[in-house]
Amino acid sequence: MGDDLSRLVSGTTRDVRLTIDGAEVVVPEGTTILDACGGRGCDIPTLCYGETITPKNACRVCMVEVEGSRVLVPSCSRPVEDGMTVRTRSERVDHARKMVLEFLGSSVDLSLTERVDEWNAEYGADPDRYGDRAATVSQPVKVDNDLYVRDYAKCILCYQCVDACGEQWQNSFVIEIAGRGFDAHVSTEHDVSLPDSACVYCGNCIQVCPTGALMFTSEFDMRAAGTWDEQRQTTTDTVCGFCGVGCNLTLHVQDNEIVKVSSPPDSPITHGNLCIKGRFGYQHVQNRSDRASPGSS
Ligand code: SF4
Ligand code: SF4
Repeated sequence: MGDDLSRLVSGTTRDVRLTIDGAEVVVPEGTTILDACGGRGCDIPTLCYGETITPKNACRVCMVEVEGSRVLVPSCSRPVEDGMTVRTRSERVDHARKMVLEFLGSSVDLSLTERVDEWNAEYGADPDRYGDRAATVSQPVKVDNDLYVRDYAKCILCYQCVDACGEQWQNSFVIEIAGRGFDAHVSTEHDVSLPDSACVYCGNCIQVCPTGALMFTSEFDMRAAGTWDEQRQTTTDTVCGFCGVGCNLTLHVQDNEIVKVSSPPDSPITHGNLCIKGRFGYQHVQNRSDRASPGSS
């Protein structure tokens, strides 16, 4: 039996040998360049990449140089190949990252996007150099239900919410990208409000949003009041008690109150996804005013 056939029968994958930044690396076939770099401290920036969503190659900030390739390649989705020579930092790569960070930073509110300030400094990106009159996607926050808000001024069009709501997880297909160019935006069907859409309020779109464009109303209100403080928050993993599926919850607690609920992306049960009850049905846990005090009859 040939090597490839025996691997097919046994379900094993072959090793791929490549060079990353001058060092030889051996990883299983099918590994992406980003993952192959992961253990090597390359620290490639990513924005649209999410660990539970198939890469969409939308933001282009994770581009790397591959010898023999005419163009830079997105490391989040390109699988490694035998003999590949990858450079994660070069003048060309750094310039591409700088431009992506500046274009996004000058047109979108990235104030809640993790690590952007660090990357701007690292790549010398200065979004402000496009001036006060740069076109932006700023718009009022959409507040049309009690559970979560949509602030598309923070949206980088990464498609993660669309894919989480669609065939990759939720299969509700409530949202899509509508429009072109600066008019491109995430929209419900016919731009109806969420209560009038097919949304089931699973919040799986909030879970994957990398920029804070989608946010629990509890977090939004606390930020507006200036009381949101992640330094004072703790997280506790637990199992949802609403049904027997056994979904894993991560409770985010500030001042002894649950302020939002997420789900571990690496959970083999939920992969970060929940239903409306697990995601938003936590008020009964902390409705202490209705409880009888200990010892009372
Ligand atoms: S809450 Fe769930 S159903 Fe509603 S838009 Fe988000 S992913 Fe889709
Ligand atoms: S709302 Fe968030 S998850 Fe959806 S496309 Fe915009 S940035 Fe991505």
